[in-house]
Amino acid sequence: MDNRQEPTTTRHLHDTADPFAADASRVAASSTTNDVGQHVARHEFHAAGLEETTALLAASFDGLSEREAKARQQEFGPNELRRAAPPAKWKLLLEQFASPVVWLLIAAALISVLLGEWIDSAAILAIVLVNGLLGFWQEEKSRQALEALQSLAAPSARVVRDGVVAIVAARDLVPGDCIQLESGDQVPADARLVHATNLGAQEAALTGESGVSEKDARAVLDPKTPLAERRNLVFAGTSIAVGKASALVVATGMETEIGRIAGMLDHQAPEQTPLERRLEELGKVLMMACLLLVAIIFALQIWRGGRLLDVFMMAVSLAVAAVPEGLPAVVTTALALGLNRMARRNALVRRLSSVETLGSVTVICSDKTGTLTRNEMTVVEVVAGGNRYRVTGTGFHPRGEFLKSSESSSSESPSGFARPVDVRHEAELLDLVQAAASCTTASVTPAGDDRPWTVIGDPMEGALLILAVKAGTDVTAPRSPLVHEIPFESERRAMSVVVSTGDGQRMFTKGAPEVVLAASTLELIDGQARALSDDRRTSLLNIAGEMAGRALRVLAVARRDFPQVHDGQYAESQLTFLGLVGLQDPPREEAKTAVERCRQAGIRPIMITGDHPATAAAIARQLNLSGEHAVVAGPDLDGMSETELASQAPSISVYARTTAEHKQRIVHALKRRGEIVAMTGDGVNDAPAVSVADIGIAMGLSGTDVTKAASDMVLMDDNFASIVDAVEEGRAIFDNIQRVVLYLLSCNAGEVIFMFGAALADWPIPLLPIQLLWINLITDGLPALTLGMEPPGPNIMDRPPRPPREPVITRARGMHIVAYGALFALSTTIGFAYVWRTPGASVESARTVAFCIACYSQIFFAFACRNERLVFPQLGPFSNLAMFAAILASAVLQLGVVLLPLAQPVFNTTTPSADQWIVIFALSLIPVTVLEVSKLLAFVPRGPRRDHAAAP
Ligand code: ATP
Repeated sequence: MDNRQEPTTTRHLHDTADPFAADASRVAASSTTNDVGQHVARHEFHAAGLEETTALLAASFDGLSEREAKARQQEFGPNELRRAAPPAKWKLLLEQFASPVVWLLIAAALISVLLGEWIDSAAILAIVLVNGLLGFWQEEKSRQALEALQSLAAPSARVVRDGVVAIVAARDLVPGDCIQLESGDQVPADARLVHATNLGAQEAALTGESGVSEKDARAVLDPKTPLAERRNLVFAGTSIAVGKASALVVATGMETEIGRIAGMLDHQAPEQTPLERRLEELGKVLMMACLLLVAIIFALQIWRGGRLLDVFMMAVSLAVAAVPEGLPAVVTTALALGLNRMARRNALVRRLSSVETLGSVTVICSDKTGTLTRNEMTVVEVVAGGNRYRVTGTGFHPRGEFLKSSESSSSESPSGFARPVDVRHEAELLDLVQAAASCTTASVTPAGDDRPWTVIGDPMEGALLILAVKAGTDVTAPRSPLVHEIPFESERRAMSVVVSTGDGQRMFTKGAPEVVLAASTLELIDGQARALSDDRRTSLLNIAGEMAGRALRVLAVARRDFPQVHDGQYAESQLTFLGLVGLQDPPREEAKTAVERCRQAGIRPIMITGDHPATAAAIARQLNLSGEHAVVAGPDLDGMSETELASQAPSISVYARTTAEHKQRIVHALKRRGEIVAMTGDGVNDAPAVSVADIGIAMGLSGTDVTKAASDMVLMDDNFASIVDAVEEGRAIFDNIQRVVLYLLSCNAGEVIFMFGAALADWPIPLLPIQLLWINLITDGLPALTLGMEPPGPNIMDRPPRPPREPVITRARGMHIVAYGALFALSTTIGFAYVWRTPGASVESARTVAFCIACYSQIFFAFACRNERLVFPQLGPFSNLAMFAAILASAVLQLGVVLLPLAQPVFNTTTPSADQWIVIFALSLIPVTVLEVSKLLAFVPRGPRRDHAAAP
């Protein structure tokens, strides 16, 4: 079955009783594009009537044609605020060389030149250059990755083009475009209202006024009216708080009010995340420690009679090798690449800092409809005129039968639905079905070839239209003119439309059964409107409850007639109840697995829904998401104090009939318990809850712009499983950063300890500056970078969330860094001593062996840093091919500098003998082997571990 909402971007216009529509269409296209330009620049549109506005803009309510829109785009440019140009590339490249470490190196190279050591000097400069280019390339790559993410989050707008509603990028809007707005939308451009229902805008960003500004399409204002009072205009940069509207764009981009006020937006440097800040501080501390050690080694070497220049060069190189200056770049790249991986898994992270929080999430609060369920609605049961019917067929497929129950609607658990019926002979059923179909803003179109129809709009309303198709109604025919609409609001849980019936007006209302039944005084039975007694009301509510208990979403439908001439006040009261509709919306298969994965990962999934408690409980059971407590409903929450809620929250897994305010209280309660809360939201009212959650998640498909703006992450497929994927990626990114830190610091510590030991032992300088610089380039470069690209390991969701305040380097990890550093130093020392003590061997050959061991042991070690539990054979090379290639390339390059005759004089290397090669490889394998064996020993089952991070 595939009855999902098609990702179509067009939708046919509804009939409207808009009093201005006819006039406006008549005036269309009387000016040229050039005239429009002049008018846009000069005109005060709030003082213009609609006719004048459409004429000035050469616009019509059938929208501009695509061709005209293209031509106007050429003239007016993109609808976006200009940003100051980002810093030039050459400046970014130069920045790579703006570090004290590089200056030291350049000074060393200059001194070498003065002393005539041209080769040394050239080699040092070459390495500085390559290092700088590598850093620049890395920064560019992360910048591009982040830009790609931003373009995915670009705002869009609903606009009428060529007579149909299309969703286009907001930057493509032009003056004269006819846009449609509804509550929760960000206004994409300045626009003159054409038609507005109950419209209120939140304009604080522009006018500083925090309340909701009421809007009125019909007003024609004095030209001097201040901005905050121009109630017939809406402005870019503000948002729609309530209601619906259509409007003509009067200014775009820098011509909008916000564009004029803001002027040019400064180029924003990407924010630094707390993790990056912490690492920068760590880097500074390490730099001081390294420099201190280097100073001591320098003093020791001088004391034992080393040549000042040699010792100075060595000290500079060691400082370069020891200071993890590449760390911030590697971390940023790991973050940026991780974010891209998340985007590929449908989670768009809007704030870089959220990545760290994601790894610590302990509770995920999720909506039900569309997130945990498929949002593939099908009406399967109907109660009308005292009868119950089962409806066959699946999804948006238009074929299905109505089977009548042999029992009456008062029976709360019907059994036999044997008899198919002809709907034409079931008057109340037909009334109900047609009323439900009229009370929608969605539309459906046939897809041909007996395929499911295409639904544009709310899938639940689509299901009601398909129900009408099954009952033989032509839902594609023009509908009765719409007179008024009371839009759906989750607080009210109902919506109504008023249509003109020729001799009068009829309001159709649908909504939650308790809401509609409370507003109904009559019920339609046998063609007669009979009084609805309290007993009957209770009985109908019980039926609705029973249907909900079978995981159906239940809607009640009612109507009310009004005379043709009416004061425009349409209250949802004194309704005639028509019946109940039961919709099936099965849970997502992947949500069930995701719930299980959450459990394993120590994360508690919670369902917070506006639906009936019985429906919520039934779906929760199907997903294995039930807590200790039964479902807690919104009204129960109202009776709880904050303290009570906080004390009960740990055992509640399902909240039903909730409002946006409840969501906010639940987040607060959970946060009070020390939980790290991820919370989803879609409606405009969810924005506060989403913004107070540690990770606010907006729905990409069904969410409003306002909620997206308040969120940390946008879920592009509205799917619960994608939240869990994002948490997994968040953990992976943090792990990768920890791995890189462990790897880089262990390697650097190894070099410092080795050089320190040699100085203490009164040996000749065991690694020359150029060799140290080379090791630094080879190991801090590609292997570290690709280690940061490690995909999430298979065991990443088997452990509890990371404590949010856990430092990057815990005490245990600090010890590991020192221990592995010592191990590197030991291998290199043994290798150096082995050759140096061999009679007749030169110090150059001892250095070459030490040089190779230092390089290879670090390169091989990178393999072991890939996972804290799994050893290389379990991971295999193919799960991170980039790293495999990087390591291969580094290993070959090292072979080159040792063996190539041209490279030997530069790097002061000699060709190692066969047994020296054996020594090199045997000793280089020590650190990696110790780490891999320690994993095997540590994970002989001993119960769950808490210290899960990258350190072995
Ligand atoms: P969630 O997506 O948060 O799990 P939900 O979609 O079930 O929740 P709401 O959209 O707030 O929650 O709907 C709450 C109730 O309002 C529904 O159970 C239904 O009775 C009613 N309702 C929902 N959509 C409409 C609609 N378009 N018209 C009329 N009533 C509706």
